[in-house]
Amino acid sequence: MTFSSLSELHAHHNELCTCPLKTTATQPVFGDGNSKSDIVFIGEAPGKKEDSLGKPFVGAAGKFLAEMLASINLKREDIYITNIVKYRPPENRDPEPDEKEACAPWLIDELNFIAPKVIVFLGRHSMNHFFPTEKISEAHGKLLKKEIKSVHTQYFLPLYHPAAALYNGGMRKTLLEDFAKIPAILKKINDKT
Ligand code: URA
Repeated sequence: MTFSSLSELHAHHNELCTCPLKTTATQPVFGDGNSKSDIVFIGEAPGKKEDSLGKPFVGAAGKFLAEMLASINLKREDIYITNIVKYRPPENRDPEPDEKEACAPWLIDELNFIAPKVIVFLGRHSMNHFFPTEKISEAHGKLLKKEIKSVHTQYFLPLYHPAAALYNGGMRKTLLEDFAKIPAILKKINDKT
């Protein structure tokens, strides 16, 4: 199916999505940002604040993410950000495989609508959805190239999740260092494509 806008895409999937979390979440949390961005960030699932405001990454992790974006001269409005699962899991537990599977066609349509040059995974859940055998402790900060049948984008950058790194000094430093690589990575991909 083709969509003429992201709002049409979100409305379509929100109606059809069979994710069991639909019944417990306050509302869906749609992806947000620039639909023409070269870069898409994928988190795990909405938290409490996201569930109440209906917007991804608006809590503490989102604030840290905005600071990291600013450090590479990007604003939230320059990028697109979404989650694997569009509804909040109760008590912020990890999303279950059936919940991720139910939301997967939505994510794939979103990614192909935007067709970014690079997809950044925020955390292992996001990365393992596309690269099930990679370990975030080894793959973080390394650009992966893979042809995935359902997704047009071929470049992927795994990063630690900002919520995990927020209060962990070592991980925070690593995340900031990995984040600083993004401009050069985008340039390298742009030079190739
Ligand atoms: N963490 C996520 O993975 N997603 C959000 O939207 C907020 C926090």
